[in-house]
Amino acid sequence: MSFEQLGLSTDLLRAISDQGYVNPTPIQEQAIPVILEGKDVMGGAQTGTGKTASFTLPMLQRLQVHANTSMSPARHPVRALILVPTRELAMQVHDSVKTYNKYSALRSTVVYGGVSIDTQIDIVRSGVEILVATPGRLLDHIQQKTLTLAKVEVLILDEADRMLDMGFLPDIKQIIQLLPEHRQNLMFSATFSPDIKKLASKLLHNPVLIEVAKQNSVSELITHVVYPVESAKKQELLVRLIQQENLQQVLVFTRTKHGADRLAQRLNRHEITSEAIHGDRNQLQRTQALDNFKQGQIRVLVATDVAARGLDIEELSHVINFELPNNPEDYVHRIGRTGRAGAKGFAISLVSKEENSLLVDIEKLLGIKIKSEQISGFELKETSVNDSKKSAPSEEQRTKRGGLSKQNKKTNSFVKHGEKVIHFNKEGMTRNTKRANNKADDPLFTQPYISKYADVNALIDESSELNKKPNHRQLSKRPVPALFISPATNKQKKSEAS
Ligand code: AMP
Repeated sequence: MSFEQLGLSTDLLRAISDQGYVNPTPIQEQAIPVILEGKDVMGGAQTGTGKTASFTLPMLQRLQVHANTSMSPARHPVRALILVPTRELAMQVHDSVKTYNKYSALRSTVVYGGVSIDTQIDIVRSGVEILVATPGRLLDHIQQKTLTLAKVEVLILDEADRMLDMGFLPDIKQIIQLLPEHRQNLMFSATFSPDIKKLASKLLHNPVLIEVAKQNSVSELITHVVYPVESAKKQELLVRLIQQENLQQVLVFTRTKHGADRLAQRLNRHEITSEAIHGDRNQLQRTQALDNFKQGQIRVLVATDVAARGLDIEELSHVINFELPNNPEDYVHRIGRTGRAGAKGFAISLVSKEENSLLVDIEKLLGIKIKSEQISGFELKETSVNDSKKSAPSEEQRTKRGGLSKQNKKTNSFVKHGEKVIHFNKEGMTRNTKRANNKADDPLFTQPYISKYADVNALIDESSELNKKPNHRQLSKRPVPALFISPATNKQKKSEAS
């Protein structure tokens, strides 16, 4: 299918062609016509699938009737509100809006916290039709009466799952109260947790459920590799991998901000230019680090999960998990930085013995067994009797315990190669079934976002739209990242829906 067949205007087609896009991605193909019709959408997609254009393009087309060149702010009320969880994503989404809106007179801007509100106020006051915002800063503007949401026609919640993770729900509820009742609602989420389904059921009216449901798309595009290694040798192994493979642009994930800083310093000492990006760095530092990385001035960007959320870095070939995330869903978010828009990518994980239960959970979620490789000099030491309980599971055990489906077993065989194959200790294996619930040691996780507008619950009327019974089709019961929905889950959903 071509973009022309989707019913987009010539100005938008021109902007798309300027970008060099030839064909719409699957989510664009499915979402654009539906959004153009004015329907609500629940989109199951993560970054890297082309989802930003999938909602931005039809949104711009629908707002085109309002485009005008008047200097009067009153002629440019906010018509589309795009809520996003992080500053970085806000900037990126706004960049996309500008890209696709370049041949139109519609105005847009972005507001997010962590920077002075004053310059934002001037732009917002002059009138914009499209506003990209993080929830807290948007409420700051509303409190200062710099903008009103009374004319909003389209509400878009991007990365809704992460917004809930970050504690934005009270702010979102309050914002929704300020919107006109009659509007189009679009919600995008990489995962369908019960909380997301609850929010969707209250927010969306007869939504069309659109998922990027190619369960194999990740395994086709992204090569996953695990390097079992002692924790103490991880830094050395990382340096070796980067140098040996001559990697020029690598996004490395750590669990803690201190860990990110330490690792960046260590890499720099090995003349591998790198910077850290995490919640303790101010906006300027974060933007600068990201720009340096995008422009190739540094080879490695070391990031925590929250800071890296939604980062769109073109042609990023390698994501390295220096430490596995506590929540398997975060693995999906992390590797979403690579293998984007059809490009090939590598997701490499350095896994210590202590992290094996996390690896099992990730494999279970993905429905694949991740191949394991080893580099000479970094072999795992033979496990002693005393710590055998913590030892790594065998492939067989990982398969069983991971509960992989027969189909996956067949289609994703466990390939081993490299200098030496690792033999996991099979004795005394116990799987740590207690999955760590604590989020990464990032202030955005450890100190949940507390809304400044704490009294919001009192403001939400029980009879409000948010509390009405849903009348749209049910979403699936199990939280599954959109990219990994198995055919079985799809079938189940269809039968639930019918
Ligand atoms: P997103 O999922 O919105 O973060 O987009 C991921 C990347 O894909 C961005 O760099 C987009 O510029 C790019 N992209 C979006 N749509 C297309 C398309 N139809 N063809 C090629 N690249 C695209």
